[in-house]
Amino acid sequence: MPDGTPPRPARTLRTPEALHAAGLLPAGALAGAAAVAERYSIAVTPAVAALIDPADPADPIARQYIPDAAELVTAPHELEDPTADAPFTPVKGVVHRYPDRALLKPLLACPVYCRFCFRREAVGPDGGLLTEAELEDALAWFARTPEVREAILTGGDPLMLSPRRLGEILGRLAALPHIELLRIHSRVPVAAPGLVSEALAAALEAGKPLYLCVHANHAREFTPAAIGALGRLVRAGVVLLGQSVLLRGVNDSAGALEDLFRAMLRARVKPYYLHQLDPAPGTARFAVPVEEGRALLRRLRGRVTGLAWPTYVQERPAGGGKVPLGPEYPPAG
Ligand SMILES: *Cc1c(COP(=O)(O)O)cnc(C)c1O
Ligand code: SF4
Repeated sequence: MPDGTPPRPARTLRTPEALHAAGLLPAGALAGAAAVAERYSIAVTPAVAALIDPADPADPIARQYIPDAAELVTAPHELEDPTADAPFTPVKGVVHRYPDRALLKPLLACPVYCRFCFRREAVGPDGGLLTEAELEDALAWFARTPEVREAILTGGDPLMLSPRRLGEILGRLAALPHIELLRIHSRVPVAAPGLVSEALAAALEAGKPLYLCVHANHAREFTPAAIGALGRLVRAGVVLLGQSVLLRGVNDSAGALEDLFRAMLRARVKPYYLHQLDPAPGTARFAVPVEEGRALLRRLRGRVTGLAWPTYVQERPAGGGKVPLGPEYPPAG
């Protein structure tokens, strides 16, 4: 290239060398990133790579996905399974912590691997796909658990499944009389919008209301391609919600949060949850104290449409579940 800019990649980058060749990882960071790669998965899609400004060492998109040697340092308060899913797993691939809803994790692959992920010890491109027999066991559990009204597909990322496979799973769940709602948590619409084909959108028309919770942390993630993918989902009757994590260096200012929530609304996504960071190993560089999070949200109230407001939540340690964190206000009157 005449200006020395490396070419934009056509495929997902999965190694430190590939990131370096694409200009997204300086030579001096290669050794540290290689050590991280031995423990945690790496993936940067072409859509995400195109969003990164390689000249900005503090780029908020790069920070979410480019491995850093700091990930190998586990702080004393960090936990392997911060949300403590294991004790709430009646059969492989299912997590039942709350009475009326349960998670189904059909696979553990994602389009990208986020450096702050709370399931980072489990997610990855190989493994984690339920076998036919395991999926049957999981579906049989839903069939015999009538208090569960909502099936929440997560992972990994359920939109990484083929439309045929995803449609089959949703159809089986929707056919259960006690299942009233389907929900999917996904990063695909922003991280790999090309995967949201008409066939995938059609697979989501399972005959029961389907809520899709889009995970995005920065306004720039709502590109024209992402907005197009979300539009295809809306046309298939999907209700879109937004889920974000409060992250140091990504969205830890009132302006960045306002921009993020407004970008969601423009893309027909209603902000649902802003999560406090879960203490997964090696994620301390992303931590924002709760008091700071509350103060940031207080600065939006009144100035920004109420539609933009997510609930700020924290996962209690040791399986305590999600609790709202405020912000708190002086008493009314
Ligand atoms: C977060 C979570 C849910 C969904 O909770 P909502 O508050 O309904 O979004 C369900 N099950 C588990 C285990 C969860 O961690
Ligand atoms: S897409 Fe979700 S599950 Fe996958 S690495 Fe990112 S935060 Fe974790």
